[in-house]
Amino acid sequence: MTASCVIQPGSTLGVLGSGQLGRMFAIAARRLGYRVHVLSPDDDTPTGQVADLEIQADYLDLDRVAEFARSVDVVTFEFENVPSATTQTCERFVPVRPAGRVLHISQNREREKTYLRDVGLPVTPFIPVGSLAELERAIDVGGVTAVLKTAAWGYDGKGQVLIRNRLEAAAAWTALNTDHAVLEQFIDFECELSVIAARGMDGSVLTYGPMLNTHSHHILDVTLCPAPLSANVEREALEIARAVVERLDVVGVLCVEFFLTKAGKLLINETAPRPHNSGHLTMDAHITCQFEQQVRSVCGLPLGSNRQKCPAAMANLLGDLWEPGPLDWSRVCAFPEVKLHLYGKQAARPGRKMGHLTALADRVADAERLVRAARAALCGETQG
Ligand code: AMP
Repeated sequence: MTASCVIQPGSTLGVLGSGQLGRMFAIAARRLGYRVHVLSPDDDTPTGQVADLEIQADYLDLDRVAEFARSVDVVTFEFENVPSATTQTCERFVPVRPAGRVLHISQNREREKTYLRDVGLPVTPFIPVGSLAELERAIDVGGVTAVLKTAAWGYDGKGQVLIRNRLEAAAAWTALNTDHAVLEQFIDFECELSVIAARGMDGSVLTYGPMLNTHSHHILDVTLCPAPLSANVEREALEIARAVVERLDVVGVLCVEFFLTKAGKLLINETAPRPHNSGHLTMDAHITCQFEQQVRSVCGLPLGSNRQKCPAAMANLLGDLWEPGPLDWSRVCAFPEVKLHLYGKQAARPGRKMGHLTALADRVADAERLVRAARAALCGETQG
């Protein structure tokens, strides 16, 4: 990479989307001496609170989007449902990294799965459906049990319905209220894994993981790294993630989420062309975290070391924890090996990601025990 291509510290980075992923990106960027401008429809956002400039505008207010793009040196995103018109407008003025083309593929389950399958990567078997009649035919071909998912706007289990027999098809189709969906085979998985890959402008790739993820009500609950897996599964997961970023020509960070079947086969569930919740533990456990890699890659800087310093476990803090009332954070801070991260969100709604904890230990099982105990202590519970 020639020095002239590098977006040097002191330049201004633009972020589309203003949640916690943008916040942690902005913190990493500011630590490296960059300025950060963020655009989203909201104000006093997790990202806006730590950015130099928060622009409150609709993603489709393309005049404001153009003004935003003109004020920065590169644009990245932290929110997957940014419309293509928004990234295309930005691309008229500055580089968008990863490219809007990558976002366009990954924000629609049919496009994403078709792309990955066609380049020879293993995805959960699926059939696109556009009507109830097509859904019934898909069930006849693909079989039940299956998961019906909206093609667009799905995340954290939103926009998906489990179908256990053909009679449930009509109710599922009505519940989803869409004309574009995919019917996926239900995978009775052994576990869920993820790999985070960073790819620089020079094509170099570094990976994190695989992480072992457990979900609660379809939302990530706890992540462990290193994951207790066979060397073969580990190698294959890392190779697949590398292939995804290379095939898609990603400059930036991308997460690949996998199901590991009981037969030991890896299937890609979905990809996200941005840092991921399962990579939050890299902030405390790795030499270079996923957010700093996002900064480095989109600016054309060399990637930093992905070496893990010690085993780690991450537990999400969802809004449900706030239900009994305000929380006493000294209970978490009383665990010296646990790091507290809060996202600055005011309203604690059930299921809303408010923060996370990372525990560090000599063994990953100890880190898991510690992080669960620290979270339980917040609710006044004690765990052995
Ligand atoms: P998604 O929004 O597609 O990531 O789904 C959220 C969660 O739902 C996943 O992490 C799984 O726990 C579960 N899930 C999604 N698709 C399937 C499937 N085809 N088979 C089994 N579980 C699934």
